[in-house]
Amino acid sequence: MQFPDVNNITVDDAGKILPEKKNIQLHVLRLDKIHPVISGNKWFKLKYHLENFQKGNFEGIVTFGGAWSNHIVATACACYQQGISCAGIIRGEKLLQPSATLMEAEDFKMKLIFISRNEFRNKNESGLPDEIKKTFAGYYIIPEGGGGTEGEKGAAEIFQLLPENNYTHIACAIGTGTMFIGLQNSKLAGQKLLGISALKGWHEKIAKDDAMIFTEYHFGGYARIDKTLLTFMNDFYKRTEIPLDFVYTGKLAFAITDLINKDFFPSGSNILMIHSGGLQGNASLEKGSLIF
Ligand SMILES: *Cc1c(COP(=O)(O)O)cnc(C)c1O
Repeated sequence: MQFPDVNNITVDDAGKILPEKKNIQLHVLRLDKIHPVISGNKWFKLKYHLENFQKGNFEGIVTFGGAWSNHIVATACACYQQGISCAGIIRGEKLLQPSATLMEAEDFKMKLIFISRNEFRNKNESGLPDEIKKTFAGYYIIPEGGGGTEGEKGAAEIFQLLPENNYTHIACAIGTGTMFIGLQNSKLAGQKLLGISALKGWHEKIAKDDAMIFTEYHFGGYARIDKTLLTFMNDFYKRTEIPLDFVYTGKLAFAITDLINKDFFPSGSNILMIHSGGLQGNASLEKGSLIF
C-alpha cells in the first residue's frame, strides 16, 4: 500500500495527520476515545433509544447482534450503568468458547439468547420465535446495530464534538448506514460525505446530493480481513499511533488513503475521517497479528 506522499505526519491529540505535499489535510475524529466499551458511534446511536426507554414503561431492553457485535457490548454496558435489565438475541449457535465480546456482555449482566442464523435473518419479516416474543413482550426493542430514526438522530449529534467544522469532506464507515444518514442530515451544505461500506453488495440508495457510497473496499465481505488490510492497519498505526478496527475503520482508512493516492480529493481538501471505534472486535484476530 502506497501512503499519500507526505513530508511528515504530525499527530496531535485529535489524531491529526497532514499529507502536506498533496495539499490535503486529513483529520481523524477519535470517537474511539469516548468510552472504553460504549465506544464510537454506538454511544450516539443508543442515546435516544435509552431516552425512549426511560420515558416509557418497559421491563427492560432487548437487542440483536452477532458474536463480535460492538453494538451488543455497548448496549450491555450502557444498560448496566443505568441499571436496566437487558437481553441480547445473538445470531448463531452458542459456542463452547464464547467470544470475548459475549463474555464481556455477560459481565455487564446482559442475558444472551442464541437463535439460528436463519431465524435471525427472518426476524423482521416472519418475526422472532414465539417463545422469545412472549418472554420479551414488555421490553423496549433496539433494532440491530442501534438503528432506526432514534439512531440517526443520535448520530447527527456527532458533529457537535467538533470545535470547528471547516471540512470539505467527511468520511465514515457503513454497517447499517445509520451513522451515514445521521451525518448526512447534519453536515453543512456543500460538504461532501463519503461512506465506505464494510459489507459486500451494498445497494441501498441512502446517499443524497453531495454524498456517495463506495462499495469496493469490503475486502471480501463483512468482517473479512486479508494480509493487505492487516499490513495497512499496522503501517497506519506506525505512522499515526491511531489504532483501527479491522471490520470498519481499517477499511475506511484504507479507502481514504487509496482515494488520496488516486487524486480523488482536489488540492486544498480538508478531510475528516470519523473513527467510529470498534476496537474490541480486534480480539477476534490471531494474537500478534496487530502491533497495537
Ligand atoms: C457499528 C459500527 C459502524 C457502523 O455504523 P452504522 O451506523 O451501522 O452504519 C461503523 N464503525 C464501527 C466501529 C462500528 O462499531
